[in-house]
Amino acid sequence: MEEKGILYLCATPIGNLEDITLRALKILKEVDLIAAEDTRRTLNLLNYYKIKSPIISYHEHNKGKRGKEIIRKLQEGQRVALVADAGTPGISDPGFELIKECIESGIRVISLPGPCAAVTAVTVSGFPINRFVFYSFLSKKRKDRRKEMEEIAGQDKTVVIYEAPHRLLRTLKELLEFIGDREAAVCRELSKLYEEVKRGTFSELICYFESTPPKGEITLVIEGKEEDGPCIRGSLIQGVEEVRQLKEAGLREKEAVKRVARYLSLPVRELYKKVIEEKEE
Ligand code: SAM
Repeated sequence: MEEKGILYLCATPIGNLEDITLRALKILKEVDLIAAEDTRRTLNLLNYYKIKSPIISYHEHNKGKRGKEIIRKLQEGQRVALVADAGTPGISDPGFELIKECIESGIRVISLPGPCAAVTAVTVSGFPINRFVFYSFLSKKRKDRRKEMEEIAGQDKTVVIYEAPHRLLRTLKELLEFIGDREAAVCRELSKLYEEVKRGTFSELICYFESTPPKGEITLVIEGKEEDGPCIRGSLIQGVEEVRQLKEAGLREKEAVKRVARYLSLPVRELYKKVIEEKEE
């Protein structure tokens, strides 16, 4: 019986084309077929390194049918390299179903490690990296997103999130509202010409990106929850509730906001704005 092929998960650059391992280049040259999420982008890379291997597309919209074709070729003994748009295949990119199917069909899967935006970002964030949690993109569905925010609020490990530039401000504002004013790092255009790592609290980052609209690819890294100590950080929602209780107890609004902001380590201006918004709703 013919020997089965191998599926190589080939990590490719997230920016600079030189960030690819020699082994990945060798495999891309040798395989019978390259299955690429974005053939145009992968062709740029292949042309840069003068690699002529045959290429087909494998993406979110054809992964069912294409996946079966790829499995057939692997069953026949061909060697296939799976390449994502950028970075590591399967990490917030198509690949998982094909990997699973290969394993179930007894086809060997070899991962060629290399660039991954999440790992690159967490290493430059300055937050603890011995344990971190990766959320990929937050859900767009209100209910699921709320659940994720609540989870992140209680998370004591560093949190990594992929985000689109046009959604960054909204996400930072929601995070401030749900989990309070934590430290974060917005890692933008890593390994590219306009690479930038902007560190600060959510409110500082909101201020910065309101005047400098973010562009390019973004990975957001958030510091884990501090152990409860003298500095307790609360959420704006919690702050609004505490202000309401203090007002009921007879305190003037301004004074209540100041006191709660100090106690929960929240920015006074943001808390005051939230109290007014809640009153208007
Ligand atoms: N498979 C990829 C990996 O291993 O990194 C991730 C693919 S995911 C569809 C793309 C997201 O990764 C972008 O929207 C952005 O959030 C993040 N990303 C990709 N390249 C980046 C870069 N150069 N700098 C910062 N974030 C990046």
